[in-house]
Amino acid sequence: SDVCSSDLLVGPPGTGKTLLARAVAGEAGVTFFSISGSEFVEMFVGVGAARVRDLFEQAKLKAPCIIFIDELDALGKARGMGPMAHEEREQTLNQLLVEMDGFDPRIGVILMAATNRPEILDPALLRAGRFDRQVLVDRPDKIGRLAILRVHAKQVALGPDADLEVIAGMTPGFSGADLANIINEATLLTVRRNKELVGLPELQEAVERVVAGLEKRNRVLNKMERERVAYHEVGHALVALSLPGADPIQKISIIPRGIAALGYTLQLPTEDRFLMTRTELENKIAVLLGGRIAEELTFGEASTGAQNDLVKATDIAKSMVKAYGMSEKLGAITLERERQPQFMQIQLSQEKGDYSEETAREIDCEIRRIVDEQFARVKRLLGEQRAALQAGATMLMEREVITGAELKTIMENQSAGR
Ligand code: ZN
Repeated sequence: SDVCSSDLLVGPPGTGKTLLARAVAGEAGVTFFSISGSEFVEMFVGVGAARVRDLFEQAKLKAPCIIFIDELDALGKARGMGPMAHEEREQTLNQLLVEMDGFDPRIGVILMAATNRPEILDPALLRAGRFDRQVLVDRPDKIGRLAILRVHAKQVALGPDADLEVIAGMTPGFSGADLANIINEATLLTVRRNKELVGLPELQEAVERVVAGLEKRNRVLNKMERERVAYHEVGHALVALSLPGADPIQKISIIPRGIAALGYTLQLPTEDRFLMTRTELENKIAVLLGGRIAEELTFGEASTGAQNDLVKATDIAKSMVKAYGMSEKLGAITLERERQPQFMQIQLSQEKGDYSEETAREIDCEIRRIVDEQFARVKRLLGEQRAALQAGATMLMEREVITGAELKTIMENQSAGR
């Protein structure tokens, strides 16, 4: 929906979200207004809201133009979250929502914002017609890193041995800002060594220095971890590609993002969904289990990396039994009340429902049965696809990012060769 053309750029720090927004304005030849969410929050009560109003007033006068709000999370944290659930932020946020809703798309003001923590944003900000379109600005892959290194290296004199491809290969998980830092560090080392040209040893040492600084900030995976993550992610993707009607796989990546996700499989629905059938829910569980089972098949045992998947799979099974009456044993009854209509946003209450202990035991059994059935199904499925699993994981380790279409080709070639 292009009601107000509001894009939310989502990605880790240092990946150039601000640069991208600025480039969009430059490309379009329009005025660029930029402000950071944290600037609003430091203000006195009432000032932040007035500032938002002013900003939009000015923008309307200068239209066509782009308003860019960096660190949207500082301003748009879910209400009541954190120690400072303070009035000021709430007023400022409300004003922003008012401005967004009052947007007339014809005047040509485009709103863009950036965050590295979309999960903590107030859901009101993400509703249709507001920031309903998210653009992933990810850490670069190997080819991207090489291109970024080349741009920054233009300003320094490189020696003949300074192979930037080697450096690109050494730096999975690095952001654009981190790569710029490597060139800087290498230049400093070169000067300190009284050399004129930046050589490979300086670049390599610079990588180590930047890594040491990064280790606290991001995860940089070792070789064995990378291998495991590659098999895990290809496991998810192969299951999704094998099940009819599953959401298509966009891409599979082992470029680490943030603290939690070591790799990820980007599976996007082709349309907004408000209803799901039992088969679709079972398929969702199967896809979630694919990562763990791929690890088990390949390495003989699972790792802690699958925990989040298991939590999600169990939650879906729980909802099927308790909320949607999709368990044959318990029948079409709902054992949970006051649910939100949107199925994936369910928070299962921890308190005991108004049912007997016997029913509680049956619920547990049914949840277990649903997950176990999918576990067996995925184990069979991936067992048959082992060649594709291995070929896909090898390609992913090599390239760090592969598309769903590429994995599909691998799958088809493997089954044709059998
Ligand atoms: Zn997973």
